[in-house]
Amino acid sequence: MKERKNMSTDVGRGASAGIRPDHEVVVIGAGFGGIGTGIALQRKGIHDFVIVDKWDRVGGTWHANTYPGVAVDIPSFIYSFSYEQRGDWSRVFAPGSELRDYAESMVDKYGLRARLRLNTTIVAADFDDRNSLWRLSTDGGQQLTARYVVLAVGGLERPKMPEIEGLNDFGGTLLHTAMWDDDVSLAGKRVAVIGTGATALQLIPAIVGETAHLTVFQRTPIWVFPKSDAEIGWLGRQVLGRKRIRSVLRLAGNLGTELAMSGMVAGPAWLTAGGRRLAEAPIRRWMRSQVRDPQVREKLMPRYGLGCKRPSMSNDYLRTFDRPDVTLVTESIERVTERGVVTADGVEHEIDVLVCATGFKLWDRGAVPPFPVRGRGGKDLERFWTDNRYQSYQGVTVPGFPNAFTITGPYGFVLGSYIWMIEATSAHLARAIAESKRRGATEIEIRQDVHEEYYRECLRRQEKNFLFTPVCEGSNTYYIDNNGDSPFRPSTHGEMYWQNRHFDLDVYQYTVGAPTPAVRAEAGRREAQQH
Ligand SMILES: Cc1cc2nc3c(=O)[nH]c(=O)nc-3n(C[C@H](O)[C@H](O)[C@H](O)COP(=O)(O)OP(=O)(O)OC[C@H]3O[C@@H](n4cnc5c(N)ncnc54)[C@H](O)[C@@H]3O)c2cc1C
Repeated sequence: MKERKNMSTDVGRGASAGIRPDHEVVVIGAGFGGIGTGIALQRKGIHDFVIVDKWDRVGGTWHANTYPGVAVDIPSFIYSFSYEQRGDWSRVFAPGSELRDYAESMVDKYGLRARLRLNTTIVAADFDDRNSLWRLSTDGGQQLTARYVVLAVGGLERPKMPEIEGLNDFGGTLLHTAMWDDDVSLAGKRVAVIGTGATALQLIPAIVGETAHLTVFQRTPIWVFPKSDAEIGWLGRQVLGRKRIRSVLRLAGNLGTELAMSGMVAGPAWLTAGGRRLAEAPIRRWMRSQVRDPQVREKLMPRYGLGCKRPSMSNDYLRTFDRPDVTLVTESIERVTERGVVTADGVEHEIDVLVCATGFKLWDRGAVPPFPVRGRGGKDLERFWTDNRYQSYQGVTVPGFPNAFTITGPYGFVLGSYIWMIEATSAHLARAIAESKRRGATEIEIRQDVHEEYYRECLRRQEKNFLFTPVCEGSNTYYIDNNGDSPFRPSTHGEMYWQNRHFDLDVYQYTVGAPTPAVRAEAGRREAQQH
């Protein structure tokens, strides 16, 4: 996607920005997004910032998700920062606790510990037009002010409970995978899991030996690949300890992702459809070979195309369903009672523990953003997105929200490694903030025309996205939002990386002091003349 050459830079000088904020930058979220942002800011010489998080530890996703079996589902030597590669992972697919330790160690190594403000929930963010700064309200009734704010609030850590009648009447123990309680023992209990997505696929084999009986309620079967996981022993660590070897492995993994993404973005429809069908056949064969019971086997086979919904990898998930102490239920759930789960066929499945592996509030109202964000003139971000569909410039910023940046905004994330995106978007926003400071500006805002062009191009590319074709019917995919769009970035990682690092700095407009209405009108006139 090409960026337009800028014609306007400084909008003009109005009343000078008044009070001095508490910090230059406040970063909300201490997951990998917030940590990566802190490092990116430091690299641009910006040191007056704090990182706020509602929890008492860093790591975000990896702090929230501690259910048995939790692990990354891309190899660890890819799921790590390019500048912080490790050779000492215990497995090819590291367990969640190691990712959390990795986050902690980065905080120490990059001197971020003193910048953390943990146990602090932000409940609202308001742009103060008069003083060109953000006012962040905390759950403790305090206010933090910052010239710039970065929302690194993630998405896969706000648990979504299923909307099932009677859920709260359940007399046993109710759990969600993202709110795991280690004090709850599953030993000898009748346990049920609702959901068969990527999380359930990790959880089910990890608990099945412990439970007296395990009932799994499936709505949509998941595509499962074999997992080339292994413990990394002494020899493996010696090999992975070598930067060159790691780099080659990373390169190979990333090239594979790039090829797939390039095909999706640029390939003709017949080629991508053909490629998908070609890939599906051996996977289906392998999946079938994993389950002996023919009826159960068929129930576990997806009826939608590969790639419509997040697939995952496991060598033991499918086999679990051959066990006599496991029941797969595909009847839809009607309600939950005090004793268990009642399905549409009238059967009551009696259980002691009910685990909701039902994912996260990704596109739900009130979840994006997770608290009210009000920009210039009180413009509400959630309302804006509700009325105009999700949109943002490179996933980083939205017109009308000066000095505000996001790590994972709409049309920012390329399906693949999340860490790639964090590196790219944090470099983008750090570069923009540094430029704003260099120009002595108090406000920086993406130009409306640049934003619109980016959004138009994303929609144009999305037109041929196979997610909207009959092949994906019935997949219940979170790749499609509540407006029926797929707000993922339709580009390769390479393009995302390049554009976030090399955008023309004049795609932003910079304001020295809060502009007066007259300055604003003049800026509008100039903008109109450029079209
Ligand atoms: C089981 C699982 C496996 C995954 N595997 C992979 C994988 O293999 N590859 C991959 O690329 N991605 C994977 N992911 C996605 C993962 O979420 C991202 O890779 C990444 O960790 C997200 O980092 P983040 O900082 O953007 O968000 P998060 O880790 O979600 O961090 C956001 C932080 O913001 C804080 N926050 C939110 N709201 C507020 C508020 N109002 N006030 C204060 N703080 C707030 C939260 O407390 C949290 O700490 C996986 C996710 C899960 C759940």
